[in-house]
Amino acid sequence: MGAGFLAFVAILAVIYFAVRGRAERLREQMQDLLRRANERSASNRLPTESMIKCPTCGTYSAPGQQRACDRADCPYR
Ligand SMILES: [Zn+2]
Repeated sequence: MGAGFLAFVAILAVIYFAVRGRAERLREQMQDLLRRANERSASNRLPTESMIKCPTCGTYSAPGQQRACDRADCPYR
């Protein structure tokens, strides 16, 4: 086992711990982001009753925000 191999292993270890540390931080950031997004959507969620269902495609949309879907017979087209 030469010194070159040991150096190679040491570099691998450094890369491994660097990547693992970054992944851990990224995971925490993602969880924080998700939590904040959930809080936001919970505070300004539209009541289901005010949603209008498209009779053709069954897509629900807020009143005045109907968008045409891919179907040719969509009434919002
Ligand atoms: Zn539609």
